[in-house]
Amino acid sequence: MKKIIIVGGGLSGLIAANYLASANIQVAVFEKKEYPFHRVCGEYISNEVVPFLKSLDIFPVDFKLPNIQRLQLTSVNGRSALLDLDLGGFGISRFTFDHFLYQKAKQRGVQFYLNTEVDSISFSKNRFEIKTREEVFFGDVVIGSFGKRSKLDISLKRSFVKKRSPYVGVKYHIRSKHANDLISLHNFKDGYCGISNVEDGISTLCYLTHRNNLKKFGDLKKMEAAVLCRNPFLKNIFEYSEFLWDKPEVINEISFETKSPVENHILMSGDAAGMITPLCGNGMAMAIHAAKLVSENVMQFCVHEITREELESKYARTWSSHFKKRLWAGRQIQNLFGKEWTSDLAVNLARYSKPVANYLVRKTHGIPF
Ligand SMILES: Cc1cc2nc3c(=O)[nH]c(=O)nc-3n(C[C@H](O)[C@H](O)[C@H](O)COP(=O)(O)OP(=O)(O)OC[C@H]3O[C@@H](n4cnc5c(N)ncnc54)[C@H](O)[C@@H]3O)c2cc1C
Repeated sequence: MKKIIIVGGGLSGLIAANYLASANIQVAVFEKKEYPFHRVCGEYISNEVVPFLKSLDIFPVDFKLPNIQRLQLTSVNGRSALLDLDLGGFGISRFTFDHFLYQKAKQRGVQFYLNTEVDSISFSKNRFEIKTREEVFFGDVVIGSFGKRSKLDISLKRSFVKKRSPYVGVKYHIRSKHANDLISLHNFKDGYCGISNVEDGISTLCYLTHRNNLKKFGDLKKMEAAVLCRNPFLKNIFEYSEFLWDKPEVINEISFETKSPVENHILMSGDAAGMITPLCGNGMAMAIHAAKLVSENVMQFCVHEITREELESKYARTWSSHFKKRLWAGRQIQNLFGKEWTSDLAVNLARYSKPVANYLVRKTHGIPF
């Protein structure tokens, strides 16, 4: 029986683990942290994933999740527009969702190595060797779902790590008066901030900024007061909300460079294969969809319908045909954000040319699968 190793137990890794285990395939997941834990993420998930999650019995039905149907856009100067979302989405914290998926995968017999960071992955004589600090493991297939940036990218000499990325991501959980059916995207100089609700009456406030903003003001609080709060909508949120954590979750070096979906025979899934700009609110849907695609190809390999060579080339082709254009569209649309006149332009587009704005939103989203 083939042994599948999944490196990285985020959304993509956990979905692949659930799907493969449901087909009675032997799976082990290596995750450097321990569930549950918070992550930098806006926590809005496009409804395109709902049929697939339901078909695998991993849709989180018991959490009374907000159903999000409207998008509010505001510019750096505080102009605002509302759009209906064609497909909409739901909100759930990654703390809850990842933990729920982990429990489901464990019930299905997936073997987890938690608090276990993988140091290197190599391939020779038709099998993989996975090294952690303490042990060496072997597998027939490795799915690389280790997220946007991992030390494995350096050991695998992936080209995108050579370029430094200027983006910093920050996330808070807050209590606010934010409407349950709304996701807001507020622009500020050199960044943008999303806010939408998740379970238990909590709102997620998550923003992406250029590291120069942070350098200029020295710390997050000063930068938020001086830069984010120039947008009156954000000023209102920062002044009148209850911030639930002592410190936010913060990550840096968020890269939107193109990556390759197969490297050194490893099948990359989720952000490890390519990351869409967060303003599209679609990274999680893409991570789930990629996990579905990679798992289906691996299932064919396990029953000897395709060879390893075919597995790699077929997956690379399928991945590109599903996601390449979306990533490109996300990068172009991100250029409209974080500047005064272009963010005004985006808001005017949403106000006065709704069909065009809806078309652009659709370009960054997939269709239900
Ligand atoms: C600021 C910001 C806001 C966002 N907002 C949204 C949003 O609202 N909606 C949306 O759909 N998407 C959003 N995204 C994108 C979304 O968070 C990602 O696309 C999604 O989490 C990708 O899932 P993944 O499984 O690929 O990676 P992750 O969920 O990041 O999981 C990777 C896992 O790999 C583990 N790992 C890494 N290296 C190793 C190693 N060497 N050994 C073992 N484990 C390892 C990590 O600990 C982690 O658990 C946002 C992203 C950012 C940066």
